Amino acid sequence: MEEQRIFSQLANLHYFNICEHCLIVDRDMRRSSPGHICTNCNKPGSGSIGYFNLGVYEILSLMEGFYNLEIKESSQEFNEYIKDKNIHHISFIIFFCSLAEILLTNFFHHYFEKEKLPKKIRNRLFDDNILVKQKIEKLFPSLIGIKWKDAVTIVDEKSKYNYKKTLDFYRKVVRIRNELIHRGNSWLIPDEMPINCLRNTIPLTQLFVDLHNEFIATKYA
Ligand SMILES: [Zn+2]
Repeated sequence: MEEQRIFSQLANLHYFNICEHCLIVDRDMRRSSPGHICTNCNKPGSGSIGYFNLGVYEILSLMEGFYNLEIKESSQEFNEYIKDKNIHHISFIIFFCSLAEILLTNFFHHYFEKEKLPKKIRNRLFDDNILVKQKIEKLFPSLIGIKWKDAVTIVDEKSKYNYKKTLDFYRKVVRIRNELIHRGNSWLIPDEMPINCLRNTIPLTQLFVDLHNEFIATKYA
């Protein structure tokens, strides 16, 4: 089944590690052994350091749990927790939007670490740019030195994924979420929303890995 294939791909996100020296992110599982030589900078690492923060795994695990509840729709378990199909769909919208926000914040945290920015400054930057729109349109170009749209184009051209399509989907999900918040229009949620959210989790996570490798890590190889 397609969703099982997506879940097994999502489980592989645990293998994304970051080199403490050059900051390259890859799925070289040998990084978990202390002393393993980084294939990018040739320096020995001190063991695996995951790239994604815990929130990413937690959201993905919630998505998997809720998706599987839908499969067992006739069970008592489903009826107890998910009384309405729309509630099920709403949960995916919330999970997907949260995943994007966590990935974006995680991206900036890695930048802050690289630049060794004091905690006070990090907090101020986030306080001044609370909304995703501000983080993308203001914070991203001011720190990274390139507009978000142009940065996405650069990594999109090198990738097998269509990041622009994934971000179009994200904007669609955000619009539905905003409708829900402002008007309570939960009937607007299309039935294919949960599977489409799942389909876009892999390209969305890979987009942030690629942005990190392009604009934060130092590439030698
Ligand atoms: Zn390295």
